[in-house]
Amino acid sequence: MVLSCNGAAVDQLYCRRVVQALSSEKIGNIRIVKINNGTVIDHIRAGHALEVLQILGITGKEGSIVTLAMNISSSRIGRKDIVKLEDRFLETPEVAMIALVAPEATINIIRDAKVVEKTRVELPDTLTDIVVCPNTRCITNKDREPITAKYQVISRKPIRLKCLYCWTIVEEDEIIHQFTER
Ligand code: ZN
Repeated sequence: MVLSCNGAAVDQLYCRRVVQALSSEKIGNIRIVKINNGTVIDHIRAGHALEVLQILGITGKEGSIVTLAMNISSSRIGRKDIVKLEDRFLETPEVAMIALVAPEATINIIRDAKVVEKTRVELPDTLTDIVVCPNTRCITNKDREPITAKYQVISRKPIRLKCLYCWTIVEEDEIIHQFTER
């Protein structure tokens, strides 16, 4: 599935306006819009592109070009999604959150239609303050305690975190739920 949006809401699986590509790039049998400046998030696990957009708070109403390609064949990860964002660059906490829903993702920075930087997201062994501990009695959830949540990554596929304060295990579904319900 390939969707291109310009000014339209990326509303779950539907984009209302499909942009006619002025310049495009061939991926497999598919042509998708090239961007001049912005970010390409590639190698997103198939079916997770919409979560990446939600993490970034992108609704499509920003007015800049958003291109989504889902379930494209990839030699590296089988099937993948791609998100292309015109005029949008990522902050470090955003990259960390993307690493939790798309741990194989690569991030390409585009300037003047050229890739000027290509990095792979990295899920560190420990994470601080990105996820909320689901245990309401955990000390990290007490307002009076100035303690930030810390987690150890105990599994990467599926992603599973362990709270270093109460040892509660946070499953991948819970992480995605937290990121997309904000
Ligand atoms: Zn905890």
